[in-house]
Amino acid sequence: MASQNRPFHVFLFPFMAHGHMIPVSDMAKLFAAQGVKTTIITTPLNAPTFSKATRSRKTNSGGIEIEIKTIEFPSLEAGLPEGCEILDSLPTPELLYSFFKAAGLLQEPLERLLLEDQPTCLVADMFFSWATDAAAKFGIPRLIFHGTSFFSLAASDCVGRYEPFKNTSSDSEPFVIPNFPGEIKMTRAQVPDFVKYNIENDLTPLIKHAKEAEVRSYGIVVNSFYELEPVYADYFRKVLGRKAWHIGPLSLCNRDNEEKAYRGKEASIDEHECLKWLDSKKPNSVVYVCFGSVAKFNNSQLKEIAIGLEASGVEFIWVVRKGKDDCDVGKEDWLPEGFEERMEGKGLIIRGWAPQVLILDHVAVGGFVTHCGWNSMLEGIAAGLPMVTWPVSAEQFYNEKLVTQVLKIGVGVGAQKWWIKVVGDCVMREAIEKAVTQIMVGEEAEEMRSRAKGLAKQARRAIEKGGSSHSDLNALIEELSSHR
Ligand code: UDP
Repeated sequence: MASQNRPFHVFLFPFMAHGHMIPVSDMAKLFAAQGVKTTIITTPLNAPTFSKATRSRKTNSGGIEIEIKTIEFPSLEAGLPEGCEILDSLPTPELLYSFFKAAGLLQEPLERLLLEDQPTCLVADMFFSWATDAAAKFGIPRLIFHGTSFFSLAASDCVGRYEPFKNTSSDSEPFVIPNFPGEIKMTRAQVPDFVKYNIENDLTPLIKHAKEAEVRSYGIVVNSFYELEPVYADYFRKVLGRKAWHIGPLSLCNRDNEEKAYRGKEASIDEHECLKWLDSKKPNSVVYVCFGSVAKFNNSQLKEIAIGLEASGVEFIWVVRKGKDDCDVGKEDWLPEGFEERMEGKGLIIRGWAPQVLILDHVAVGGFVTHCGWNSMLEGIAAGLPMVTWPVSAEQFYNEKLVTQVLKIGVGVGAQKWWIKVVGDCVMREAIEKAVTQIMVGEEAEEMRSRAKGLAKQARRAIEKGGSSHSDLNALIEELSSHR
């Protein structure tokens, strides 16, 4: 049992994927800034990412040092290549299950650390469903981090529970999510396969156990702020009966350019060069296009994006990820003839990894084309930007509905189908041009931007002393302190 007179000590255990590790780095800074002893548990090859991301906090803010402890990742044992310790280093999507298998073997080493350190609480990723039982062995409360919104957590619960897609006659016929506030519409094609097809595959037990662990855990930590989705935060807590604390937007703890520029990976562009390019542009004139750390598009889709962007006449920064398949940026045959020459000075292509938060926060950026990963969406909201929504996989279609149907700060590009292999729908150039123009130019764009700016202000207030997220974080620390 954690003893009463030990200092409050939080263990953070993120899943090994950028979309999960980045917000946990920020969460570590947040806890440390409250004077809480904070330890991140990760694997050896991922440790430098955390030490670099949390480094400036030790020296700049007077917060306490964040400790990083490692446990070996059994890549070879699970049939992965040596050194494959993060999701985006998977050589083929078929190895996804092996990656989860390796992650599933981490229970024993984690238990050893829990026994050794006896932390006050463990915040572990949703994919480590077994962490609830591991922590319970030592009387340690386990909290879950999903990395998504109240809206998505609650919407996916209702869609799974009531199965409204069964009452539609086609994949494209819309249904309204039952017993859920706001008359939210979506289609069967947009519901994840594992929910609608009742298929048993290697990942089915993982999802089932994650759901069970959610109910048995101490509670849920949510990267969101109350003012963004009050109806859904209340619904999640009061109607679905989940104990949850909102402590976001986590990315807002990165205040200076150095912190904003390093987000889990070295950027593929010099940050000063990137800022200089943006400094030469008018306010709200540039659209930022990026699809997160996992989603991939094939060459023909990349070409449609290029042509759509050019036709919109809007200046842009476009991030194209390096991949090992046919969208390998090394081949360059995805660009229309003479594209980069024509776009010189108007468009900047970043091949690889962009300093996203630094870019989104620049005054020249006026809109965001996003795959609707929750970190990206919240970073876009915190920057006050209207968005073109282009969901691909995971819970991204739910996130899209929040932005387009509830907050009304975005327009859908028309992505229709949920993909397990995170490869993306085929969206034609005309749709891309239209959506980009809609969020960047004209009265509708101005209205969306002004609503988004309002939310950005509320986001900043939420994390300041006395704000809703700051207060909820303190309430969590207080409750867990007295729980000991
Ligand atoms: N990101 C970044 N540079 C890139 C691509 C992504 O900094 O070129 C960051 C982005 O700011 C966000 C995270 O990676 O914090 C991606 O998380 P998200 O939930 O948006 O999507 P995922 O990668 O999990 O699909």
